[in-house]
Amino acid sequence: MQGEKLIITDNHAHVDNSRGLGAIKVAKTFYNAGGRVLILLNKPTFDGNLTRSMDILVKDIEKINKETNVKAFGLVGVHPAELTYLSKYMPLEEAKEKIIKAIDYASSLIERYDFLVGIGEVGRPHYEVDEKILKISNEILLYCMEKAKDLDSSIQIHAESSTEEQFKEFSEMAKKVGLNPERVVKHHCGDMVLEGEKYGIFPSILANRVNEDLVKKSLRFVMETDYIDDLKRPGAVLGIKTVPRITKKLLDRGIIDEDGVYKIHKENIEKIYKINLGG
Ligand SMILES: [Zn+2]
Repeated sequence: MQGEKLIITDNHAHVDNSRGLGAIKVAKTFYNAGGRVLILLNKPTFDGNLTRSMDILVKDIEKINKETNVKAFGLVGVHPAELTYLSKYMPLEEAKEKIIKAIDYASSLIERYDFLVGIGEVGRPHYEVDEKILKISNEILLYCMEKAKDLDSSIQIHAESSTEEQFKEFSEMAKKVGLNPERVVKHHCGDMVLEGEKYGIFPSILANRVNEDLVKKSLRFVMETDYIDDLKRPGAVLGIKTVPRITKKLLDRGIIDEDGVYKIHKENIEKIYKINLGG
């Protein structure tokens, strides 16, 4: 089989020890499919506790790195949908303060653990929200970008579907606080490679949307599944084997070569997160 030694990275996945396969099984399944590097993020919990899931993620990543051959890294943050949840129980300003405190906590973890490479997923809801929630979401996002800049780290944004206008907006926001837009990842992204080149934002593209047309335009993107590791919601998102599977398919069909795989899965990831994947 071609490409067995290649580094293959899933840039956005979740593990859930209570609802899903859990960290170790997910990592092993990923590895057996050909995956080597996992970028993991804490999930929203909608229970008012914004930091416990960050602590759990730290433990999960430590376990994966110790007990499996997968290299795991993480981003910690407050999912944008948590603001909508909190706003049902408290005034918006209070919810904002609570989230800012949790982002400060996330920052302290990033400072402490080398395998934490950024803040995420943060941003704004992908569903329609009223003006006030949108405004506060943007304020929180700007705060996260400032933190990412101070920490010399990266950020993964969760937001509504991408447009050129949105890439421009995120790029301007990042520049405003002195954060290099290349360290800003738009997660769950469609074919936005040319807009990414233009505005500096890094597209993280769902693995099943990576095809010949896209690859011909540019290799400046990373791949993800957004796997949620929830056994009650099978098929809600892509499975954890999807990134290696599709990468190998593209390789076998000659749509990309090994240099292309190297660029997408290693060089781009190293550039975004300032890490060294070896290999
Ligand atoms: Zn996610």
